[in-house]
Amino acid sequence: MISIKNVSKWYGNFQVLTDCTTEVKKGEVVVVCGPSGSGKSTLIKTVNALEPFQKGDIIVDGISIADPKTNLPKLRSRVGMVFQHFELFPHLTITDNLAIAQQKVLGRTREEALDKGLKLLDRVGLKAHAAKFPGQLSGGQQQRVAIARALAMDPIVMLFDEPTSALDPEMVNEVLDVMVQLAQEGMTMMCVTHEMGFARKVASRVIFMDKGKIEEDCSKEEFFGQPRGERAQQFLSKIL
Ligand code: ADP
Ligand code: MG
Repeated sequence: MISIKNVSKWYGNFQVLTDCTTEVKKGEVVVVCGPSGSGKSTLIKTVNALEPFQKGDIIVDGISIADPKTNLPKLRSRVGMVFQHFELFPHLTITDNLAIAQQKVLGRTREEALDKGLKLLDRVGLKAHAAKFPGQLSGGQQQRVAIARALAMDPIVMLFDEPTSALDPEMVNEVLDVMVQLAQEGMTMMCVTHEMGFARKVASRVIFMDKGKIEEDCSKEEFFGQPRGERAQQFLSKIL
């Protein structure tokens, strides 16, 4: 579903990604972890074509991001993205947050968009909040709305960038529960997260990044079960 091939990226003279290669097969859940500044957000944004890269290529569902002929907005509309900060539209109701891109990008009718949005809102347990504004919801609730909003676009893959790291601890699990459910339903997912409980539960593979490189890329059994490289071990000993 996603094939990242020898991707390198620079900000000026600073190399932020070095020869990154990995793939995510249909239905796989790949957890990306690593120290702050190691390039995790940058890597995941390249998959959504939100960050350009200078070398290599990324193929999403058979479509090359590096190919100048590729319609990037169209590709982006098929890739759901959930960020650390929920980035809901504060001046729109939850209902409208869910409907607007479906109408504007996918050309769905208002009725179709509302119907789909409400179903997804129900699925994340927030149907009763449809008429509220984002500011009236807790952080955990807003993040669940953000997930529902991404799902409303019928994505072929979902990308998450530390979706729980800005939340108060008591709200982390309600968001992880939604993500676990998605994973168990077979959604293809690439998740930057340090929630190793989540990784143990649903990850097909774990990628460990350090200084812009993919240092480990292995099954969760290998990642948690055997001694890894020194940097990964140091990292794990700090967060577990
Ligand atoms: P992570 O998500 O693993 O914490 P990032 O991908 O956000 O790491 O950042 C990787 C490195 O790239 C960091 O050193 C960061 O300072 C740098 N970086 C990120 N965005 C920019 C930018 N727009 N310009 C220059 N450097 C950047
Ligand atoms: Mg980051």
